[in-house]
Amino acid sequence: MRINGFTTPFRKAAGAVLGVLAYNRCPICRRELSRPKDASGPVCGDCASKLDITPSPCPRCAAPAGPYSADEQGCRLCARENYAFSRTVAIGVHEGLQRTALLAGQASHGEVILEWLTDRLWERRCEQLSAWNCDIVTAVPRHWTRRITTANNAAEVIGRRLARRLDRPFRPNLLSQTRWSKPQASLRPTARRKNLGDTFSITDHRVARDRTVLLCDDVMTTGTTAHRCSRALLDGGAKSVDVAVLLRGVGRLEAT
Ligand SMILES: [Zn+2]
Ligand SMILES: [Zn+2]
Repeated sequence: MRINGFTTPFRKAAGAVLGVLAYNRCPICRRELSRPKDASGPVCGDCASKLDITPSPCPRCAAPAGPYSADEQGCRLCARENYAFSRTVAIGVHEGLQRTALLAGQASHGEVILEWLTDRLWERRCEQLSAWNCDIVTAVPRHWTRRITTANNAAEVIGRRLARRLDRPFRPNLLSQTRWSKPQASLRPTARRKNLGDTFSITDHRVARDRTVLLCDDVMTTGTTAHRCSRALLDGGAKSVDVAVLLRGVGRLEAT
């Protein structure tokens, strides 16, 4: 197959080389990486040390909460939400340096950054994640139309990495998004809650039945997507669902 005068394998190889070269610069601050000082991964040591880890997150939705302002029932952001999932972990808030890192991860050849961020999540939250003792790990699915228009499937990269860390089976196709809906990020919170109605369904009831499931995604904002996916898993026989995301969106819009 020929595209623009180059064969597809050639284009793929060229893309891979460009991808490697791109990591000579930190994807967050664009500073040139100096080895071995920045040998810790694809991100420079300065940026790595500035990742803002939420110190006392809400156990239910992972939003920042003081040590006494959230419990298993939730925090001011989630207490009135009727989530189908039980608990959430995240590295921190979807803003600043973390947001820039995630954007780089969602771009072409960004898998290595997504894996690096997932390892930071594991580093800080492995105690909780291990204590949840999930049976299987899955990821928020993307409708096929979105799969062909986005650079990579972030939720799947994160889920696969976490499943390996937890030594649990990864079932990326356990859920499918059966109806296309507007991207959540383009909508205001009230519209987000109305969007995505009944768009997720379980593909294999035998896999989910009586299992505790860890559902993975890159960002959780209103929690609507995670809720709908969890609802589909519970309706499909899962015992319970917990959520792991890299970042929690709690900005001005999200808080309304
Ligand atoms: Zn940097
Ligand atoms: Zn909360």
